[in-house]
Amino acid sequence: MVLTIMDGTGNDTPAIGIDLGTTYSCVAVWKHGHIQIIPNDQGNRTTPSCVAFVNGERLIGDGAKNQVAMNPANTIFDAKRLIGRRFSDSKVQDDMKLWPFRVIQGPSDTPKIVVSYRGEEKEFLAEEISSMILGKMKDTAQTYLGKIVEKAVITVPAYFNDSQRQATKDAGAIAGLNVMRIINEPTAAAIAYGLDNKSDITSKINVLVFDLGGGTFDVSLLTMAEGGGTLEVKAVAGDTHLGGEDFDSRMVDQCAQEFKRRWNKDLTGNKRALGRLKCACEKAKRILSCDILTSIEIDGLHEGIDFSMKFSRAKFEELNIGYFVKCIETLEACLNDAKMDKSCVNQVILVGGSTRIPKVQCMLQEFFERKELCKSVNPDEAVAYGAAVMAAKLSGNTDKCFQDLLLLDVTPLSLGIEVKGEVFDVLIPRNTPIPTKKSKFHTTCYDNQSEVCIKVYQGERARSVDNHLLGMFTLSGIPLARKCVPQINDCFEMDANGILTVTSEIVSTGATEKLTITNQNGRLSTDEIEKMVKDADKYKQDDQEYKKKAIAFNALEDCLYNMKHKMKNIENGERLLKMEHVVADTTKWLQQNQAASADELQRMREYIESICM
Ligand code: AMP
Repeated sequence: MVLTIMDGTGNDTPAIGIDLGTTYSCVAVWKHGHIQIIPNDQGNRTTPSCVAFVNGERLIGDGAKNQVAMNPANTIFDAKRLIGRRFSDSKVQDDMKLWPFRVIQGPSDTPKIVVSYRGEEKEFLAEEISSMILGKMKDTAQTYLGKIVEKAVITVPAYFNDSQRQATKDAGAIAGLNVMRIINEPTAAAIAYGLDNKSDITSKINVLVFDLGGGTFDVSLLTMAEGGGTLEVKAVAGDTHLGGEDFDSRMVDQCAQEFKRRWNKDLTGNKRALGRLKCACEKAKRILSCDILTSIEIDGLHEGIDFSMKFSRAKFEELNIGYFVKCIETLEACLNDAKMDKSCVNQVILVGGSTRIPKVQCMLQEFFERKELCKSVNPDEAVAYGAAVMAAKLSGNTDKCFQDLLLLDVTPLSLGIEVKGEVFDVLIPRNTPIPTKKSKFHTTCYDNQSEVCIKVYQGERARSVDNHLLGMFTLSGIPLARKCVPQINDCFEMDANGILTVTSEIVSTGATEKLTITNQNGRLSTDEIEKMVKDADKYKQDDQEYKKKAIAFNALEDCLYNMKHKMKNIENGERLLKMEHVVADTTKWLQQNQAASADELQRMREYIESICM
């Protein structure tokens, strides 16, 4: 593959849109006047968000997913459910019970994924695993376009908090991408809808995007101006931990219970069995979106026992009805936030693979009093499509369809600081349009207080500690005075990515302090990102070295095979004897030196060729 950068400024390098999903990822680009979804090396338009470490090789995407049942402890998925979260987070603790791979508590409560790679235990942050998936999407685009790709827009669930957004941005940086913008998944889907239906949008409409994917659920209510160009998000709501994976887990539990009932054996400690069950349940779930009955059959599931079980759509719905009801409640909350009656919603757009579940569609339709749901956007690709549109616009593409594209998003959760009595004092309420900047004056709590600790939280609870702590810093050097006299100006600034900067200023002296979210709060430092970029390069080199070795290994085996074939036609006794010796010795050498380097393998091949030719 030949890669070229088109000009020195990099202005002509293509910018891609990446939907980094919990279970699948998708990449798209604007080319020849329209968006193209880029197929991966297997020809698939979406790539499993899965990374595996196997026999010294690193596999990303389809290759990783295909071998999960054989290698469950070293196949990592669901990194998006970990990113930007703490190890002690109850959701992480719950997920860990179902994951066949190991997650440990790293410094400052950061979760670390442990795998065995090349005979050693390696620890990875969720950002690193996500960066590997992003790297794969970048490579997919580079191969397709034949050009270096550096710029990208990456999507995140609308309901991701600041830490999760920051961590996703960091993952992009580790993958060597310049992340031009982080945009919300439902907003990206709405962009796709707007562009595709430009001519049909003849007046301002209210659009509801219902996005139920593999791991996350989002609802966004937007208004779209005539022509679909200007999108104004009115409200978002969601759950960063609700999606197809949860439905699969319920099915897995059900199967494990059934197995226990029939055989009185508990398979929940058998990682390989759980991995195989998970794959089978996911397939069965998809079938149940079309058929009303299917069966799950796995040979030798646990302790050599074959498993077979009928699964009906009714059973699937019964198991997951609680989740579906939660989706509708969240939808109601979103409409309430926007102070909009459901009758005012003109279009309901379905995004995310899990919106194919008939019960979900049926409940939605019932909620909207039998309104037709819009299924014209591809639920698996719409997000990447919209991200690619945004990427093209941000990279200065002057095509006329980008000229009137204007995106006004909102902050999903309230932001504020802790004040006396652990009270959460909100500076930016949820659903405020972004970018935004809000300031508020605070003061000291006691006489001669020379410093204050500013604790920044995100969430909707009245008590600060019940929210998500984003970071804290100390503002010192406050001139001594009676309590409540000094004035401190706290300024919250949220950029278009939904990422926050907090600055506090002592008004009388002008001294300021800025919040840099430190590692203590889950954010990576620049040095750490740099180190991970180097590590990522190293893994890439390892992958290349592995491929080189595999090619050399195959070439030597081929050579031996050809020699053996050739020997059949040789009558010269001495030459034949010599060849037999060399082939036997090399075959033995190959068996005993499986770890030989590519150079050694190549030298060996050259040696036997020189003797036998
Ligand atoms: P996404 O994150 O949008 O790629 O959605 C992936 C999720 O959608 C996974 O949990 C899939 O199992 C699920 N999914 C895909 N197709 C179907 C289907 N036909 N029926 C039910 N769930 C599906």
